[in-house]
Amino acid sequence: MKTEIIAVGTELLLGQIVNTNAQWISKQLAAVGLPTYHQTVVGDNYNRVYETFRTAHNRSDIIIVTGGLGPTEDDMTRDAAKPIFKQELIQHEPSLKKIEKYYEMNNQTMTENNRKQSLVFENAHVLMNEEGMAPGQIIEVDGRTWVFLPGVPREMKTLMNDHVFEYFKKTFDIKSEIMSEMMWFIGIGESTLEDELSDLIRNQTNPTLAPLAGEGEVGIRLTATGETDDEARQHIESMKATILNRVGSYYYGSDEKTIEETVRDLLKDKQMTIGSAESLTGGLFMERLISLPGASSVCQGSLVAYTPFTKENVIQVPKFIIREFGTISTECAEVMALNAQNLLFANVAISFTGVAGPEPSEGQEPGTVFIGVQIGERKPQVHSFHFDGTRDKIRMRAVKKGYELIYH
Ligand code: ATP
Ligand code: MG
Repeated sequence: MKTEIIAVGTELLLGQIVNTNAQWISKQLAAVGLPTYHQTVVGDNYNRVYETFRTAHNRSDIIIVTGGLGPTEDDMTRDAAKPIFKQELIQHEPSLKKIEKYYEMNNQTMTENNRKQSLVFENAHVLMNEEGMAPGQIIEVDGRTWVFLPGVPREMKTLMNDHVFEYFKKTFDIKSEIMSEMMWFIGIGESTLEDELSDLIRNQTNPTLAPLAGEGEVGIRLTATGETDDEARQHIESMKATILNRVGSYYYGSDEKTIEETVRDLLKDKQMTIGSAESLTGGLFMERLISLPGASSVCQGSLVAYTPFTKENVIQVPKFIIREFGTISTECAEVMALNAQNLLFANVAISFTGVAGPEPSEGQEPGTVFIGVQIGERKPQVHSFHFDGTRDKIRMRAVKKGYELIYH
């Protein structure tokens, strides 16, 4: 089965928008074992669209076209296909009714062009577009399967997911069940993770492995296919075991669970509470935890103290520590964590102090960060870091690092 994707639209050729449709479709097709042989972009020009369609008709079995189904002059996908399909275009009544209703409700007059959007080929299998005007169509011609979809990515995806894959499943011999799972890692860089798994990422087809960089964490999406759900699940599980064998110490959860949710669940399981003393992060660490449901059983509170004065008077950092070591120091982070634990009556406490930039502070470079962690009666641990990036990035990375330290 040779599949080809054609995106119609001059704005794609002008570089005004990126052809995300083709990328998305190719990826989905690959996951069900249908390889894409060609991706073409063609502008809104009758002759060139016609030429592109004719070439595709001669070389491919499945041709998926997005765009050019709209109401304007330059939407000519149907017209350009007409001589190839040798079929008449007819009104699709349910779509026409929908368009009429839309104009009625918005008190606008409908033009002849608007009616054009509801035209379909006479032998088409029509795909009702719930999110837009122009319906999708699947047309069987000379043993080729043509699929016409609107250009708007959301409409295109919905029609693919709700109708086109079903149709392909019934018509072609493709693997039927798709299953996917995210695996999240923290404390390992994206490139290191990719290096560790490079052979798998390169060679694996079922499941496929797609790395993904998050904010401070990295993920891998495993997508497997199988005759049945169980079979797809087995492929995922066995790959998961291989991956955990190599980089399991950085793994913190699967699916859409974030590191914040993982930490919340961990604290909940151990029936522990947490408090924070935050300078650099200004409360961001605790904010992310409190934004989650179930926070009330684990969060005690946060002390935000940004100046040396408030560190001394609110978090009770002794004056001599500030004088001798400065507020951006291991010593200050240690006392901040210890005092947060006491002042907030928490089992676990964390502290953040550092320089977010862009200017240096107390003679230290932007990106210098100290994080103190105090768990139960243990001796407080202070970790120092140097993060690159903008002010926002440094603060966010500090927060993520904080969650990672608590998790490990
Ligand atoms: P409509 O009926 O809304 O006019 P259409 O089928 O005529 O839809 P286009 O007019 O070609 O589609 O595209 C509508 C919008 O969808 C574009 O403005 C663009 O933002 C987006 N779009 C179109 N093609 C693509 C593509 N290949 N990749 C990503 N976005 C696209
Ligand atoms: Mg259009």
